[in-house]
Amino acid sequence: MKPDVLVVVPLMPFVMEALEERYTLHKLYEAEDQDAFLASVGERVRGIATGGRASAALIDACPNVEIISSFGVGTDGIDSEHARKRGVPVCNTPDVLNDEVANTAILLLLTTIRRFAAYDRYVRDGRWVREGDPPLTHSIAGRQVGIVGLGRIGRAIAEKLSVFHCKIAYFARSERSDTPYRYYRDVADLARDSDALVVIVPGGAETKNLIDRRVIDALGPEGILVNIARGSVVDEPELVAALEEGRLGAAGLDVFVDEPNVPEALFGMDNVVLQPHQGSATLETRRAMGQLVLDNLAAHFDGKPLLTPLF
Ligand code: NAP
Repeated sequence: MKPDVLVVVPLMPFVMEALEERYTLHKLYEAEDQDAFLASVGERVRGIATGGRASAALIDACPNVEIISSFGVGTDGIDSEHARKRGVPVCNTPDVLNDEVANTAILLLLTTIRRFAAYDRYVRDGRWVREGDPPLTHSIAGRQVGIVGLGRIGRAIAEKLSVFHCKIAYFARSERSDTPYRYYRDVADLARDSDALVVIVPGGAETKNLIDRRVIDALGPEGILVNIARGSVVDEPELVAALEEGRLGAAGLDVFVDEPNVPEALFGMDNVVLQPHQGSATLETRRAMGQLVLDNLAAHFDGKPLLTPLF
């Protein structure tokens, strides 16, 4: 008998094929009435495969669920506390994406500081011919980059930035003893002393609007904000207002509060680089993440230790 697995969102084709082979799948995303669908299959579900989403109600609709395996490292859309109380382990896909997400963060930082997106448009629009060379930009070398969240990805960003001869400092809830970087207890102090902030903390209630007006104003009119974490971590209306009023220099943004909707005010700003949540989005990295989703499920149903449990 194949174990029954609820698939919350469609996953990569190779993941879906491997799931089909080993499990009896129930595809929630194909159901017109999801509540009725859960009411009919929930009892049978022993595993949930998802992409960062599993509410308490969804978990409760599957009273016999034994494991939740999620694609992605962010678990702010999963009620993990509820799963823990119910004794259901939750697995995500950490580490295999550190390098890619760190690359994306650095691309956003460099593209923003060197105005690559704006100057690409400058060439395409024929302005180079008509108006000559655009204004000079700034160098990243010697600048202080403040990393908000020196976890797995934050450390990868810090290590890569050393090649660009940046000074690195960081903010987190606790100081790390295993890094040479300066620790700030207050994120606004870090912003005040830094030329750029790279935000890479988890999303969720604890970090909601961590980057608020106080922090944005501390970063100041020459400062650059890169958000590769979650839209919820930055007070988005404040960010837009600060850019409009020139209180913040520039921003490189991969994530937004209401994806895929992006505040339209940002579209006309040449000092802003926008990406459609591309942090880990290469075939190679997404394959590694998909494989980890499969491997965690397989480990559970083979009675082996889970590879990357949250708790
Ligand atoms: P991680 O290893 O758990 O690191 C998280 C870091 O944030 C740690 O330094 C932690 O330090 C700090 N932190 C956690 N809660 C905090 C709080 N309330 N206030 C201040 N600092 C806090 O996580 P990771 O693997 O590096 O991933 C980080 C996040 O990046 C993910 O959760 C996800 O949301 C996001 N992400 C985005 C993309 C994308 O495509 N844009 C891709 C991958 C990941 P302390 O515990 O000492 O505070």
